Amino acid sequence: MQGWVHNRFNLEEDKIIEKAYSFPCPSCGGKLGYSAEKQKIACSYCGYAEDYSRANDELIENPLEEAVLAAPKQVVEEIGKKVFNCSGCGSKFMVESDKVKVSCGFCGSDNVNVEAFDHQYIKPAGIIPFQISKAKATSQFETWIKRGWFHPSKLKRLAVMEDLHGIYIPFWTYDAMTDSNWQGQAGYHYYETQRVRVNGQWQQQQVQKTRWKSKSGSLRHFFDDILVVASHGLDQNDINRIFPYKLDQVVNFDPKLMLGWEGEIYDVEVDEGYQRADKIMDRRLYDLCSVQLGGDTQRGLHVQSKKYLKTFKHIILPLWISSYRYQNKIYHFTINGQTGQIGGKKPISPYKVAIAILAFILIILGVVLLAEFLKNR
Ligand SMILES: [Zn+2]
Ligand SMILES: [Zn+2]
Repeated sequence: MQGWVHNRFNLEEDKIIEKAYSFPCPSCGGKLGYSAEKQKIACSYCGYAEDYSRANDELIENPLEEAVLAAPKQVVEEIGKKVFNCSGCGSKFMVESDKVKVSCGFCGSDNVNVEAFDHQYIKPAGIIPFQISKAKATSQFETWIKRGWFHPSKLKRLAVMEDLHGIYIPFWTYDAMTDSNWQGQAGYHYYETQRVRVNGQWQQQQVQKTRWKSKSGSLRHFFDDILVVASHGLDQNDINRIFPYKLDQVVNFDPKLMLGWEGEIYDVEVDEGYQRADKIMDRRLYDLCSVQLGGDTQRGLHVQSKKYLKTFKHIILPLWISSYRYQNKIYHFTINGQTGQIGGKKPISPYKVAIAILAFILIILGVVLLAEFLKNR
């Protein structure tokens, strides 16, 4: 069919996507997709729906060092244009070979380009399917935009939401065992009574002093599933706002669950991702050692940590991404596709902040005046 389509390529020279995945409805032959609303693989024409497998036996921890050494040696296929041969209608057209979602413009069928994952050395082991539908994500946004006191009153009326995109995002999870040694000084407050002269009169006053004590100790801690986003397009701090993901619900990776959804392949390598996880662990270890050091205050806490038995997994997690426009500015936000947790930036009303500061000053002033009044009575 459509001879002009064929003439645009030389199929002998062009590479063809061979591992495109689509799934016709067994009941009517229409296109199947994954429905977040039903949490099933469902047909949009006839109402056919089927459950997905909850098996997670392929989710195994992989030794990190081996992968870091092997990854650069692996020759991955170069990203470029490839011919996509639609199994739904037979049309042929060109797509970027790293594009996960391939929709046929002729018959409307959605396909998952499983080959996109072949460009990378490490393949996804697990996935959490979308559990928040587009309608639910929209209502999450509407509730969120109304919340908070310091934002402009007209924000909820005037914020115009752009289209929501449901995207499966690549993540790394890291485990590590750690041994830490720490040294530092814990300060303990005590009070001394001193005689001071106030308004020409001698008074007794309590003055706070600190006694310092040098301490040291050690700590063993195991980190399980430190989650790092494996896409350079997303900021880890933005993603942290929509944590946690319930990782006990990760199932074996199955391209079926991506049917009809956008997807990304990772571009943060496994060792680069680990560098981020390493910083997260160091911060956490510092806090844990600080708890051991104790005291009312602390100074000079040094922590040396050794990390070993490092492992990783590559998983795919659901995320809604969008932005909204308010007074010609764009604000981005993201929604956890599993829990509905939303995170993003909102404009601050300078007017409301000024009122709050003014109110605060008035309260302080009132307290000071009252104290003066009671003293001079
Ligand atoms: Zn059907
Ligand atoms: Zn087609």
